Amino acid sequence: MNALRKTVSRLLAHPALSVVVLLALWFWPASADRGTVQLLSFVMLNILLAQSINLLTGIAGQISLGHAGFFAIGAYGSALMVKSLGFPVVAAIVAGTLITTLVGWLLAVPAGRVKEFYLAMMTSGFGLLCFEIAKEWNNVTGGVMGLSGIPSPTLKSLNILGFDIDGVNYFRVLLVVTAVVLWLLRNFVQSHHGRAFFAIHTSEIAAGSIGIAQGRTKRRAYAISAALAGLAGAFYAHLVGYLGPDSFNIMRSVEVLVMAVVGGIGTIIGPILGAVMFTYLPEKLQAFAAYQFMVYGLILMVMFLLFRKGIAGAIAEPARFIAPRALEGMGTPSGSGAVASGHASKSGASRADGTHEPATPVFEVRDLGRRFAGLVALDSVSLALRPGRITALIGPNGSGKSTLVNVASGIYTPSNGQVLFEGQDIGGKPNHEIAGLGVVRTFQDPRLVPSFTVRENVLLGAHLRYKSSMLASALRLPGVLKEEQAMLARAAEVMEVAGLTAVADQLLESLPYGYRRLTEVARAVMAEPAVLMLDEPAAGLSEGELGQLASVIRYIKAQHKPVLLIEHHMDFVHDIVDDVVVLDSGRVIYRGDMQGMRRDPAVIEAYLGIQQDGAHA
Ligand code: ADP
Ligand code: MG
Repeated sequence: MNALRKTVSRLLAHPALSVVVLLALWFWPASADRGTVQLLSFVMLNILLAQSINLLTGIAGQISLGHAGFFAIGAYGSALMVKSLGFPVVAAIVAGTLITTLVGWLLAVPAGRVKEFYLAMMTSGFGLLCFEIAKEWNNVTGGVMGLSGIPSPTLKSLNILGFDIDGVNYFRVLLVVTAVVLWLLRNFVQSHHGRAFFAIHTSEIAAGSIGIAQGRTKRRAYAISAALAGLAGAFYAHLVGYLGPDSFNIMRSVEVLVMAVVGGIGTIIGPILGAVMFTYLPEKLQAFAAYQFMVYGLILMVMFLLFRKGIAGAIAEPARFIAPRALEGMGTPSGSGAVASGHASKSGASRADGTHEPATPVFEVRDLGRRFAGLVALDSVSLALRPGRITALIGPNGSGKSTLVNVASGIYTPSNGQVLFEGQDIGGKPNHEIAGLGVVRTFQDPRLVPSFTVRENVLLGAHLRYKSSMLASALRLPGVLKEEQAMLARAAEVMEVAGLTAVADQLLESLPYGYRRLTEVARAVMAEPAVLMLDEPAAGLSEGELGQLASVIRYIKAQHKPVLLIEHHMDFVHDIVDDVVVLDSGRVIYRGDMQGMRRDPAVIEAYLGIQQDGAHA
């Protein structure tokens, strides 16, 4: 089965297949009857719609039950531009698409604030609103009577750029547009933009921790998705020549979602298969008109019992998020020796080495407090991280260690006190902005993208260092591949240090726990952090993995970056740390070095006593 899926995937990715399919579709309509040509045009429209929802729901994880709304705006928009404003058809299609894009971007503002069930309700509300407007705004949309006389091949009234367009040629235009859209989408998904969309899908907090802003990413996803649905709508208007509100009701939204999901979201091929199937099925089922929806319903129910990931999930391997061409020629890295030298000469180096007085802290918290309802999780905590020094933060469970990192990284706001990065108070800033400054952290329970490979996860860390725009990525300009290759080379170095090279192309979800922790640490290193904070990175690691972790931490130290290390594993801490801060019930009870800590009565009382009893987790 797996071998079969591999073969199918390879076949689908082969350029020759695309060429053959395109040529066949180009020439077929010349000898087909009008009904078939019309149906083929509908397949193209449905592919655009299914890809539209695939990008938003399958990739970016934002469910939509309102896509008929975007479809309607594109359709009425383009039709009205031609009929009321006298736009040429091409300009009208572009304008209709742009208006829909804007609406999608605007919808993201409220929709971006809610999730799952609430999002489904909100988007279906949006769809309903569009439907009602189409139905009631009589003097613009024609209300229930609809809008007729739109230039179209059926009416033999369509002229594009001076050419009279018949049904066959209209289909050919649609074919080319659809092919171009698919190509752009594939390029986009296989870029850092596509990976960011998917990261938002999996965990907004994790995405934020590497600088991916969820609000902006969602607005982009909505805008692009709306653009595709609007484009489909505009082409629909000129295909059929008549628009009535019933083409844009909630059933239409559901149908679009179903097409994509049954075909297999998260892939490019899935929605294509779904679109083909759901364009032809109603035709074939027309003989049983009365039972049509029953058959639909049954297909849905059985489908998801058999293939949870849709048809594409059953026949092909999951889609990847790195362009195969960028991966080509990536050998094994030259070895970690070359790596360690690469980044050692950063600012701060001489300060840390030359003098005896401690270097200025890069990162500091002062009198930091955080309360949860009545509970004081942090009580006036001060702590400074200096270049090239590893500071251990230890203390019993519940003493406030994770809370400190959460406040420092912008997941929680401070109740009082300051969080200073390079002298600036950053307390209360959103997490993606703090990550953008270079304050990067890992989580006590690793937060990654399980369905990504290790390599894809590690690349995510570099998100903010990419310069390629969305358009450049979609067009896959030469600079985009170059940039990707440079990042891949860096990721290979980082994975080598973290001992992940052997598993680089395995799906994270298929790997043991230790690899996930190391992958998360590698992702943080990939961000080239100015400050690195690790929340219990050694928990659950084997002896060998502890060694890998230590070498990553030393690697950052060698770059003269400060590291905050939360850890219970005393031997591990002992071997690598420079400074120690001990927390108990949200207060600092000790700061100094490791030897001093082991003798400190307050620490023994609060913490080491428990550790030595072995009662501590
Ligand atoms: P540690 O990481 O040292 O084990 P934490 O920082 O996770 O401790 O927790 C410190 C205290 O703050 C605990 O009593 C915990 O229950 C409480 N706490 C942490 N996060 C929250 C939250 N989001 N809401 C309420 N209480 C919290
Ligand atoms: Mg904790």
